[in-house]
Amino acid sequence: MTTEANTDKPEAPELVAPGGTAGYAALAAGVLPQAAGLRTHYCGALRPAQLGEQVSICGWVARRREHGEHLAFLDVRDFSGIVQCVVDGAHQLRSEYVVRVTGTVSARPEGTENPALSTGEIELHDCVVEVLSAAEPPPFSLDARVDTDEVVRLRYRYVDLRSERMQRNLRLRATVLSALRRSMERDGFLEIETPLLWTPTPEGSREFAIPSRLQHGNFYVLPQSPQIAKQLSMVGGFDRYYQIARCLRDEDLRADRQFEFTQLDVEGSFLTEVEIQAFVEEAVAEAITAVTGERPEAASRITWAEAIDRYGSDKPDLRFGMELVDLGPLFAETGFNAFRAPTIKGICDEGGGGAPRARLDQLTERAKSLGAKGLVWMRVIETDGGLELESPVAKFLSESEKSALVEQMGAKAGDLLLLVADEHRLACEVLGQLRNDLGRPPVYEGPWRLVWVVDFPLFDGVDEDGRPQAAHHPFTMPHPEDVAKMDTDPLSVRAQSYDLVLNGWELGSGSIRIHRSDIQSKVFAALGISEEEAESRFGFLLGAFRYGAPPHGGFAVGLDRLIAILAGEENIREVIAFPKTQSGADPMTGAPKPLTDKQLRELGLRLPPKKD
Ligand code: ASP
Repeated sequence: MTTEANTDKPEAPELVAPGGTAGYAALAAGVLPQAAGLRTHYCGALRPAQLGEQVSICGWVARRREHGEHLAFLDVRDFSGIVQCVVDGAHQLRSEYVVRVTGTVSARPEGTENPALSTGEIELHDCVVEVLSAAEPPPFSLDARVDTDEVVRLRYRYVDLRSERMQRNLRLRATVLSALRRSMERDGFLEIETPLLWTPTPEGSREFAIPSRLQHGNFYVLPQSPQIAKQLSMVGGFDRYYQIARCLRDEDLRADRQFEFTQLDVEGSFLTEVEIQAFVEEAVAEAITAVTGERPEAASRITWAEAIDRYGSDKPDLRFGMELVDLGPLFAETGFNAFRAPTIKGICDEGGGGAPRARLDQLTERAKSLGAKGLVWMRVIETDGGLELESPVAKFLSESEKSALVEQMGAKAGDLLLLVADEHRLACEVLGQLRNDLGRPPVYEGPWRLVWVVDFPLFDGVDEDGRPQAAHHPFTMPHPEDVAKMDTDPLSVRAQSYDLVLNGWELGSGSIRIHRSDIQSKVFAALGISEEEAESRFGFLLGAFRYGAPPHGGFAVGLDRLIAILAGEENIREVIAFPKTQSGADPMTGAPKPLTDKQLRELGLRLPPKKD
């Protein structure tokens, strides 16, 4: 937090939301409770309206500047802002001391007001300062936070959390959670807590195991999601469940992944998938509105097959065009061998024709690294005879093919055409990736474009043994029209599963679940899960289904990333109070740490001898 009071240097940066400022302003101003206890006001709340009043504020010394021999300016900070106090003999006060200041609200002398500060028109005079707590020099100054190594910030997270950015981000997080809760509860969803000490769940990631002290050799597993528990709550008749749930997955960490993450977890009985989606969308829209002050447009809806076909991605970013154009019919009779492939598609990068050769080579390398055999590029140029294509392959195409291509791609002089000919999914996905590389704005740049991607395939390819792999989890209901194809053509079977995508980012996924044992057996059989294995892994769920399972389905929205997007942050660690580093460590607590021999014995664990 910068605290250059009394100068015209800008104060702490404005709370500007990527999608609009109204919501953040409301956030900053709207959260102040009635001051109580040791203080009469919050630092950031003082205004000329209180001129002449004696007030008490509490907070941390953000900065002290000597002013002549005896006087000093003391900037005192709490979460709401900063107030400048003119104090006598402040020599013993150091940065981050915790103080209570009682003084009179006075107008700042003319010309010294600071419009960048909410309290910039006033200061406190005749101050009595009480030191509530002394502080060692902080490990880094909050002014220099961004230049401080992240490990140092995480080691002293409690200091870091005082920064305006962390205060803003965690308050924004709370705003999102509370909007989600409001929306879910208004729609009749009941918050039910589910166990953390649990048993394997079928999300498919590596799990954390907790040794049992009372039953040596047995382990609990931390849930990858409340998936099974929420389904059981449907069998238990709760009708509509939600939870702001912590999920735990032992996966490699990245900027957008932590071992423990938070999701809005939802399940409902006797609902159609469209109804479930509407409840989830309403909650997400309310959360976005609460933060940004702007309600996003209603989500579009697209099938998975269409998303792949038009955008080359199951997470289509609809903020920009550059759709994939199907050129199959155009080149059906072509003499150019490289274009004789099951699929040929292209994208038009408007104005991209000026790209130098080195850039085009880079794009070609990128396409190859994504699995394409090659990439055909064509610059659209203006000649006396009209539009021409400049490309190493132009000579292999007929005049009519070239002019039809320009027309179908809607190309103008100065554009760049990129074409891939290959298997359908590969050609689409390579171009989809290039489309994103060339056109996609940062995810947090508004407008907020939500899209439901529906009818995902039930199976996602096959394993080495030719077995179909579950695309979601094995309780996902096949599309009713496709159940018959389960035995004959499993890879073409669509699922009643759906994702919600925001600006090209997958916010979450869900599905209608299988509640009938005959369909479940078919799916297990297709996945190669024997009856015994199914019984040993999910027996308690299948057992429950024998006692009367309602048709049900649900969804989970990943909240850390949504909140990071709304906060304009690249890294989800900036919106989590106490995150782990990339290597899974917590520099503040030192976790993970070894256990003592006694603890290990109690847990019935023996570690292999340490290697030298
Ligand atoms: N349990 C799923 C997940 O965490 C979401 C769902 O199907 O409700 O991805």
